[in-house]
Amino acid sequence: MGSRIMSDALPAISIRNLVKRYAGAGGEAGKLALDGVSFDVPQGEVFGLLGPNGAGKSTLINILAGLVGKTSGTVEIWGHDIDRDRRNAKACIGIVPQEIVFDPFFTPYEVLENQAGLYGVAKALRRSDELLRAVHLADKRNAYARSLSGGMKRRMLIAKAMVHSPPVLVLDEPTAGVDVELRRQLWELVSELNREGVTVVLTTHYLEEAEELCERIAIINHGRLIANKPTRELVGMMREKIVVLTLDRAMDQMPHHPAFTRSAKRDDRVLEITYDKDRITAGQVMALVQEQGLVIEDVTTREADLEDVFVQLTGAG
Ligand code: ADP
Ligand code: MG
Repeated sequence: MGSRIMSDALPAISIRNLVKRYAGAGGEAGKLALDGVSFDVPQGEVFGLLGPNGAGKSTLINILAGLVGKTSGTVEIWGHDIDRDRRNAKACIGIVPQEIVFDPFFTPYEVLENQAGLYGVAKALRRSDELLRAVHLADKRNAYARSLSGGMKRRMLIAKAMVHSPPVLVLDEPTAGVDVELRRQLWELVSELNREGVTVVLTTHYLEEAEELCERIAIINHGRLIANKPTRELVGMMREKIVVLTLDRAMDQMPHHPAFTRSAKRDDRVLEITYDKDRITAGQVMALVQEQGLVIEDVTTREADLEDVFVQLTGAG
C-alpha cells in the first residue's frame, strides 16, 4: 500500500518520453498513439487531461492501469516505476475505465468485495459499505448490477477503483454520455475525494468540465502534449471571439489591428478574424473592413472554443 504522506518533491505521477505505437496489421506500421509525452501530476491536485477523440488519452490511462504496454519511456506512480516496481505502482492507483464493464450478476457489495479480494485487502480493512455510502449507492447494496442505471454504474466503478484506498484516482471520460444532473453528482464526488486528499486525474473532451474541476490542465492532441498550464492561464486564452465575414468581392489587403490574434482567408471572399473581445468589438472589426470600401454580405460570430485554442497552441490552421 502506498503511503499518503505528502512530499513536495514527489509527483503523484511522473511520465517521461512516453511512446505508444500500436501493432499494425499486415506488415503496416501501426498507429502512433503517444509520441513522446512528458509531464508530472502534482500531489493533491485535480488534474485534467484534455483532448479530442483519438488524441491518445485512453492509451495513456491504460498504460497507467497496466492494460496497455508502452513502446518506450518511463512512468512512475507515487514514485514507483511501472516496470521495475509494478506491484507498488498498481497499489497506488485506482482507475475508472472509459468503458463500463462488470459482471451484471453481482451486487454492488459483491463487486467491491471481489475487487478488494483481488487487491489483497484484508477483510478487516475492507470499506465496501463506506464506499457504497460515499458514492450514494448504499440503498443498492444488494441489487443486481444489471439493474443499475448508467449513472449508478459509473458511481459503482468509482467505488470499485477505490477499494484499496489508492492515493491517486484516475477517471477516463467519467461524464461522457452522462446527463447534466448526473454530471453534477460525479463532479461533487470527485471534489469530495480530492478534499480528503486523493490526487485526481480525469480525461475529458469537455473544456467546461476541466475548467470547473481542475487546477491544472494538460492538452494532448495527436499523441503530443501541446499544453500543460494552470487552468486560469489556459482559460485566459478563451477570451477570444471569432467573426466570419462574407464580402461582396475578394479583398486585396487583410485588415490589421493590435487586438487581432489571427486573421485568415477561408476563401477569396470569406474572412475569419480572431480577436480579443475585451479590446475590440465585432462592430469595430466590421468597420475596419468596410473602410476598404468592401460590402459585408454576411456575418457570424462565435466564442473561441477548445478547437481554436488547439489551433493557437499548435500554430496550425
Ligand atoms: P482518446 O482516448 O483520446 O480518444 P485513444 O487513446 O483511445 O484516444 O486512441 C488514440 C489513437 O490510437 C486513435 O487513433 C485510436 O484509433 C488508436 N488506438 C486506440 N486503441 C488502439 C488499439 N487497441 N489498436 C490500434 N489502435 C488503437
Ligand atoms: Mg478515450
